[in-house]
Amino acid sequence: MQEKMEKTVCWCLVLTCLLVPLAGAADWNILKLQTHDGLKISLKNYCESWRMNVELHNIREFQVVPEECIEYIGKYVTSIQYKVDSQRATEECLVYLSTSCNLKKDGFDAWIFDIDDTLLSTVPYYKDNLYGGRKLNVTSLEEWMKSGKAPALDHSLKLYDELKSRGVQILLVTSRKEHLRSATIDNLVKVGYYGWTKIIFRDPANELVSVEKYKSDVRKKLVNDGYRIWGILGDQYSSIQGIPNPKRAFKLPNPMYYVA
Ligand SMILES: [Mg+2]
Repeated sequence: MQEKMEKTVCWCLVLTCLLVPLAGAADWNILKLQTHDGLKISLKNYCESWRMNVELHNIREFQVVPEECIEYIGKYVTSIQYKVDSQRATEECLVYLSTSCNLKKDGFDAWIFDIDDTLLSTVPYYKDNLYGGRKLNVTSLEEWMKSGKAPALDHSLKLYDELKSRGVQILLVTSRKEHLRSATIDNLVKVGYYGWTKIIFRDPANELVSVEKYKSDVRKKLVNDGYRIWGILGDQYSSIQGIPNPKRAFKLPNPMYYVA
């Protein structure tokens, strides 16, 4: 009897020794995820952290979304969470406007909006392009922009209308090029944006400088023209950084691409 028990224990040990490393190896191979300090994390943990660090501007200049996170990013930008995150950002714009802005109402109170993924969504385009997992093809993106099918970001439209009703001048500053002007205007009007004061596109003269430099230079001109820029809403740091600084800048989430 004792011999039988010993045999069973022995077999159990052998099996445990065989199976445990196998399971470990399988985990490692499937997820390839284990941080330096040995903390085991899931693919969702990894991709969530990647996205968060993009938003925190710790990860910069990425060319494509990491392959293992394409599915995660696709789910995020089509999720309720993305909508809630965007809504929170635009609501904070209104909190700021109501509590900290002493509007003069002389026609020079102004707010700057970016266009892509701020007023108009490019998610339908990126849906067909691995949600940023494929390197940007400018020609195909511009073809899509010309079709004028970009939907509005609902919460941005609400903010836009609210600002307009408070007498704030709406200034649209986009890195879209001049040749997309009429398609862009048609698209904006079709989804409900109208009544802006200025819309500024990139002309060939400033296509060679960075978007941040181009947008800063535009702001410089607007400030010289007398506008008080109370705030900016954009989805890229290049839309909101640079001198002259706005009094406040608000960033919408965008983990699909990076524009310097
Ligand atoms: Mg944008």
